[in-house]
Amino acid sequence: MGERDICDLCGLEIGARVWTVRRAGEERRFCCEGCKGIWQMLNDVGDDGSNGPAGDGQGGKGDR
Ligand SMILES: [Zn+2]
Repeated sequence: MGERDICDLCGLEIGARVWTVRRAGEERRFCCEGCKGIWQMLNDVGDDGSNGPAGDGQGGKGDR
């Protein structure tokens, strides 16, 4: 729909290549691998989004 992608970390426009991370059902978009990596560190998220010790909104522990 013509909407531009904005990096969820630095707020810059995302170019032809977009890095995404899924977390708790939400998708985050980043302009570069660096932004994605930093966001993952800040939010304690792994590449598959399965690593969320706290605040992932599921409120359960030991579901696996
Ligand atoms: Zn960025």
